[in-house]
Amino acid sequence: MPDIRGYKIATLGSHTALQILKGAKDEGFSTICVCEKNNSRPYESYGVADQIIKIDSFKNYFDIEQELIDQNAIIIPHGSFVAYIGAKKVMDIKAMHYGTKGILEWESDRKMERKWLIDAGVRCPKIFNNPDEIDRPVIVKFHGARGGKGYFLANSPQEFYQRYNEYDGGEGKSFVIQEYIVGVPIYSHYFYSRLTGELEVMGFDKRYESNADSIGRVAAKDQVDVGIRTTYTITGNVPIVLRESLLPGIFNLGEKVVESSKNLVDKGLFGPFCLEGVIDPDLHYYVFEISARIVAGTNPYIHGSPYTWLRYDEPMSTGRRIARDIKMAIEQNKLEKVLG
Ligand code: ATP
Repeated sequence: MPDIRGYKIATLGSHTALQILKGAKDEGFSTICVCEKNNSRPYESYGVADQIIKIDSFKNYFDIEQELIDQNAIIIPHGSFVAYIGAKKVMDIKAMHYGTKGILEWESDRKMERKWLIDAGVRCPKIFNNPDEIDRPVIVKFHGARGGKGYFLANSPQEFYQRYNEYDGGEGKSFVIQEYIVGVPIYSHYFYSRLTGELEVMGFDKRYESNADSIGRVAAKDQVDVGIRTTYTITGNVPIVLRESLLPGIFNLGEKVVESSKNLVDKGLFGPFCLEGVIDPDLHYYVFEISARIVAGTNPYIHGSPYTWLRYDEPMSTGRRIARDIKMAIEQNKLEKVLG
């Protein structure tokens, strides 16, 4: 039987690297962490990396790629990986890459991801192409705002133009006007294996955003007096357990997204992914984003989530689930099935 000792698992030291590397070690792999030279401390301290390769900036990834290739390393992409290398340049990666590279372009482009979600039959917030048509609460998202800084809410065309003129976004002020869904944010974590052909629900989280999540601590009058503006800068993630009667719908959504991804790129979407949205008081789930790779919201579950515990009876993080998929693929001589 082919042996995993011939392979290593590698990722960039940020985002979900601790979880990915810990999971890989738990499955018996040797691990490599590529770190920015001033940010290696956590990866040393937590002992998840057998080897640390230091570079000045993640943007210089291609300078050390040959080192990874020489060691037969399999790269695991995550959010920072895609952000630093860029969805287009990911296509130039020559090292073994877990997951479909092409799908990362679909998730990184707002128009393409929306087309994917709509074609899959997922409920999405309405988009207003013309500000004069605003007839309900909307959230205005500027491109490249990163972390939701500078987003604003409006309720009418007048309010939109007033806020828009105040906004100092720069870069041509390209934006999207999206219906604002009043409800609770829920991020659903999935894993789809091409080896088992099965979709798993790994868990849920909500983001802990500053200052959107702290504004309730300030009375409405004080918010107005002090002129507090809502921002959505992500600072952490909070675990959630979903009302159980919503679970069948969550499985159904994930299956639709996986199915429709097969029309987009060869091999389609597999491995971890996440649907990000808001559930309204009528229990409708409006999805405004898809991440076609591991998300940081899985980090509270390094020792497994309530859902992975039901299925595995052993600690199973999303990072470890990835490593297990790779291990199964190697042992069954099907590694090409999980690389893309
Ligand atoms: P990206 O992940 O593309 O960088 P982002 O993190 O900057 O995007 P989003 O995830 O689109 O921004 O939104 C930031 C936050 O704004 C969300 O976590 C959510 O709380 C809120 N939000 C976004 N879109 C909506 C919506 N249509 N209705 C209600 N709340 C929304």
